[in-house]
Amino acid sequence: MDVEVTFTGVPDGPLRLHMSRSSPGRYALHQFAKNVFDLKVTDGAGATLAVTHTRPEEWVVATHGRTVAVSYRVFGDRVDGTYLGVDTGHAHINMPAALVWAVGLDRQPIDVRFEPPPGSNWRVATQLFPGSDEHTFTAPNLQYLMDSPSEVGTFDLRSFTVPDGSRTPTFRLAVHHSGDGTELDGFARDVEKIVREARNVYGEFAPYDGGTYTFLADYLPHANMDGMEHRNSTVLTASASIRGSRLDLLDTVAHEFFHSWNVERIRPRSLEPFNLDDVNMSGELWLAEGFTSYFGPLVMRRAGLTTTRELAQELARVVNAVLTSPGRGVRTAEEMSQQAPFTDAATAIDRTSFENTFISYYTWGEAIGLALDLSLRDRTSGKVSLDRFMRAMWEKFGKPGGEPGYVTTPYTIDDAKAVLASVAGSQEFAQQFFAKYIQGHEAADYATLLARAGLVLRPLNPGMGYAGGLQLTTGSDGVRVATEVPFDSPAFAAGLEREDRMLSIGGAAVTTESTVREAIARRKPGDEVPIVFERRAGERVTARLKLVADPRVEIVTVEETGKTLTAAQRTFRRAWLGSER
Ligand SMILES: [Zn+2]
Repeated sequence: MDVEVTFTGVPDGPLRLHMSRSSPGRYALHQFAKNVFDLKVTDGAGATLAVTHTRPEEWVVATHGRTVAVSYRVFGDRVDGTYLGVDTGHAHINMPAALVWAVGLDRQPIDVRFEPPPGSNWRVATQLFPGSDEHTFTAPNLQYLMDSPSEVGTFDLRSFTVPDGSRTPTFRLAVHHSGDGTELDGFARDVEKIVREARNVYGEFAPYDGGTYTFLADYLPHANMDGMEHRNSTVLTASASIRGSRLDLLDTVAHEFFHSWNVERIRPRSLEPFNLDDVNMSGELWLAEGFTSYFGPLVMRRAGLTTTRELAQELARVVNAVLTSPGRGVRTAEEMSQQAPFTDAATAIDRTSFENTFISYYTWGEAIGLALDLSLRDRTSGKVSLDRFMRAMWEKFGKPGGEPGYVTTPYTIDDAKAVLASVAGSQEFAQQFFAKYIQGHEAADYATLLARAGLVLRPLNPGMGYAGGLQLTTGSDGVRVATEVPFDSPAFAAGLEREDRMLSIGGAAVTTESTVREAIARRKPGDEVPIVFERRAGERVTARLKLVADPRVEIVTVEETGKTLTAAQRTFRRAWLGSER
């Protein structure tokens, strides 16, 4: 892609040009400058200016006039929420991956003009403000521009409006896909259900700048599975189709749309304003991402797009992760949030111990959201819920707003704790909840909490032996341990490590992964199984696996267990999972 950036009103002194190293909503460092080439700098009259490449992402123009023009080409071939993807079908532009900006000029208003390839009928979908023609837009400042991904190409467009008090916001769906119009019509109707149900949590929509919210979807075979929230839009990408994966795609819609309140406006102070030059570390992603992950499936259920059974399976997934991951003993949910720069689209060639030391703040935060929601409902007989907490956070931190691109009243973790105390009507409840589950290492009593709603948490494999979440892989030389062995598991105690080759278990030669799995599953907790394995350096080891009870659980409805839902359970469940319309 050819890019021309003209800076005007440039003050005296060296002009520092930067490519971003961070992209709003993504937490690892990225060297977007690596794809920039043919960079040239000229003055207002077109004369070349001397430029020094001072850091990988920085160019400095020491001597210049009021106008400096920068031109370059930038390569990009990844369709997702972070990068640039340009091919003959479209230009999928994430601004930090595409645009050079100037240090100190970030408050200047910006004009943006997209020039599609000659002869193409490409249109533009974006949250940028409309300009003088269909390819021209404006941004009030750099923060807003960098938060405004733009899809330039041939997409299908659907839109709907939803009256909301004195406002009637417009929702647009720009979908680049290979499906047909009828599929998209049905999809748009489901998106509208999600949009309406999510509003019910907060009681009102966020005040979208320009009165419009835009879903920018690329459902293409070469797209990567992703969703990325922005202030008045979201990028939704997947290799799946609406026809084949409707519910999965809607799940991402529900998550990202919930972000238009939670994180885009109810924003942690640690992320405001977003630093484009460096990592953005936040201890609040269990709330910003985790609670959003909790409400996504909940909104889907309330909107009638999924069943209680499907929601229960999703909740079992996150509860299992929290109950069985060794990482819970290593770091708190607040500390896991601070690991995002290492785990959110971070790449490196060395191995990590994340299987043992990390639980995703999405997953753990979702489980905390579940625990908090049910605890609040439990202690107030249904009068107070997590919806109420989110609404209180909205009133205090989201609603005050700010100029487009900024949030004037971001929150701290102590602010969130204070809001919980006020909503719950108990300082002690808030203190305890944070100390145990957010800034501590405990897991809530999910079985007791879920029972109130007529959901049964029970062992997934009762009476079955368990050696720890041992992941195996089969290669040409046999069966090996594929990942880090969980701390304190029977396999860990027996001395097994990653890459060890399993030779025998219970006296039987290990020929396939199922030899190992079945030998363990046949035995009971407390049984000991002899194993022989070879360390990666060649040492042969004989040990015993002392099996424990499988800690994994499933969550099913009372009805599925053959029992009857009580009236109290029915009322509790309806208030929790029923539509609030
Ligand atoms: Zn998210």
